[in-house]
Amino acid sequence: METPISRTALIKLIRRLAEYEQWKRAVFIRDRFQCQLCGARNGRKRVIEADHKQALSSLVKENKITTLAEALGCFALWDITNGRTLCHSCHEQTESYPVQLRRRKTKKKGRKKCVSY
Ligand SMILES: [Zn+2]
Repeated sequence: METPISRTALIKLIRRLAEYEQWKRAVFIRDRFQCQLCGARNGRKRVIEADHKQALSSLVKENKITTLAEALGCFALWDITNGRTLCHSCHEQTESYPVQLRRRKTKKKGRKKCVSY
């Protein structure tokens, strides 16, 4: 039995799942690794990211997900039609941009984060 954890902690765990990486990759491939707002492609200057049109936190809340097992079993979470490829700067301007990630940007100089897949 899994013990229920806080929604924030759960979302962190979801982001670390292999399934999450697969979801991102599927979104990137469908969008041909190109930002859906400005058309930028993944490269040295632009880093592409996968955006949830409906935020992960709101999906988790709406579907009453409290454990990783429930997250894995929730179709809405892994639906790639809820995802779109955005470059970092367009992504930051969306309302669904995760607050936890917002902080990271201001740190170090080079924000050369590699897209992992
Ligand atoms: Zn863009």
